[in-house]
Parts: sequence; C-alpha cells; structure tokens
Amino acid sequence: MESLQVNSLRDQLNVRKERLNNALDQRPDDSNLVGLLKQVDNALNKIDHGTYGICEVCHDAVEEERLFIDPLVSVCLGCLDDAQRHALESDLEFAAKIQRNLLPKNNQSISGWDFGYHYNPAGPVSGDFTDIIPLNDDSVIFIIGDVSGKGISASLMMSHLHGLIHSLLSFGLPLNEIMKKASRLFNESTIYSNYATMVIGKAYPDGIVEIAVAGHNPPLLVSNGSVQRIQATGMPVGLFADAEYGVNKFFLKKDDAILLYTDGLTESIKESGGIRSGEYGEQRVVEQLAKVNGTAPKFIIDELMKDHKTWLKDSRPADDVTVLVVKRTA
Ligand SMILES: [Zn+2]
Repeated sequence: MESLQVNSLRDQLNVRKERLNNALDQRPDDSNLVGLLKQVDNALNKIDHGTYGICEVCHDAVEEERLFIDPLVSVCLGCLDDAQRHALESDLEFAAKIQRNLLPKNNQSISGWDFGYHYNPAGPVSGDFTDIIPLNDDSVIFIIGDVSGKGISASLMMSHLHGLIHSLLSFGLPLNEIMKKASRLFNESTIYSNYATMVIGKAYPDGIVEIAVAGHNPPLLVSNGSVQRIQATGMPVGLFADAEYGVNKFFLKKDDAILLYTDGLTESIKESGGIRSGEYGEQRVVEQLAKVNGTAPKFIIDELMKDHKTWLKDSRPADDVTVLVVKRTA
C-alpha cells in the first residue's frame, strides 16, 4: 500500500482512538469500548511495524477497498469465519435493497416522451445507476452512470453520486453547471479516487434534448433507422476538481430515440470451452437499433437484450449491464 494511503488510514484510526478515549472518560467500565480501543491500538501498532493490511489467518494481503471502508478489518475475504461471512452477506443483501430503491419507476410516459430501462448488476450490488426525474417545468432529466471499481465501495459511491445529483437538481442549474459541481464535489468526497462516467440529459416537451456526456460510451441517437453517436463533452465525473463540461443540443421528432448504455453491454466477452472470443461491441448495438423504428423503449430494450443473450450463449456478463432508452412520442 502507498504511504499516502497508509497515512490516511492512520489518521482515520487516530480519530477513532480519540473518540473512544473521550467516551471511556465517561464510561470507563464499558467493555465494548475497551475492546474497540484494543482493536484500534492493534491496527496502529501494525502500521508502525509495517504489517498492516496483512491477513491474520493466511498472511496474504487484505483487500484494500475493505480497509478504506473499515480500517479495523484484519482478515481477508477468503479467511472469514461462518459468522463473519454471514454478516457480510446480510450487509450485501441490505446494500442491494437500498440500491434497488434508488431506481426510478420503469416504462414511464412523461411530457411527450417514453422512458424505459434495463438494469442488471453482475453481483448483488452495482456501480451502475440510472434515473428519470421529471422537473416542474415539464422537462425530464434522464441519467445513466457507471462508477469505477467494483463491489461494495463502487455501490456506496454510486449511492453517494445519486444523492449529489438530486441535491444539485433542486437549484435549477444548467446541465454543464450540474456536471461541473458534481465533478468537484465527487472528487473531494472520494478517498479511494473513484470516478464515474455519466450521461445527463434533459428532454423538453417541444422535442429539444440537451445532453452532457462525461467520459461515457457515446449515447446513440436513432432517427429513421440511421444511428448517430453523441460524443463526450467532458471528462468522467470526479476525476478532476476543475473539469468543464459542454452540452450537446438535438431536436428529436416523433419516434426518434436515444439509447444510453454502460460498457458492461458492449464490453461483455463470450467464453465457450475455455476460449474467449471478442466483445459484443458497439457496432452490434447500432445494427440492432437500426431495425427498431417507431417502437416503445421496452420493445427496443427487449430486442437488444434478447440479441445480447443469444450472442453470450452460456457465458454470463462479468460486469453490470444498464440500458436506458428515451423516445419521443409526440
Ligand atoms: Zn486470509
């Protein structure tokens, strides 16, 4: 582990130590506090002796992302006992429930637009997110994003970013300002240098769509069977505190649609008999889209996912797959 990271963990542990000592001044006989203080001292001791982050059972490295969530972790995932494993599984289940509650209602029709999505985490929790948020002026915000990393830490940062965007939306800022502020705040609040690729769009009742693409796979604009890629207008969110964002503007007529997806779709890899073949790829998505003119988002997504499943055969996607379709109906 880098010395910068060790120092940040030492700081975190010292804060805990101070809090525990304060509490012990008032409740010196609290055995729980005494036990926790012993764990903190033990961890600080290990840092001083260069043995911090080494599993007490197998002496391999403990997963770093777990140390940043809980600096008192002393055993690697593989060496958890049954009770610890069960506690972790129940935490994961709970985290998964929280995440599912963050998802918007599927297949909505708002202000002359239809919205539909497909959300399929590869594990119990996901770093992907999507959202559909109607605003007071009859416009609708739509979002898709993918937080770097995997597992619980990515899912925590995803929930955090979700909350951040919702708070920023309440100020009525233009999209480029929302992205700029989100990037700055996300950058300052992540200890583990997470970032997120993300697309935020705003669909107006008159067919205008504004869209900002933060280092994300180009959304695909489908009109009369032709497909156009919407290029990035800025860096991933949280990568730089001072990133600036541009906004693309399009006019969509009735039956035009935009498809947004996370890279779990196009970068999925097929494996059969131990042989790995190429990625599903953007081109295949484009070909699928060219066929589906004038149909509802649910149908577009069903057809795409059916093709994806056929292509994958017996392989399972290794990454989260999220697809969002925004279609003009008026
Ligand atoms: Zn171990």
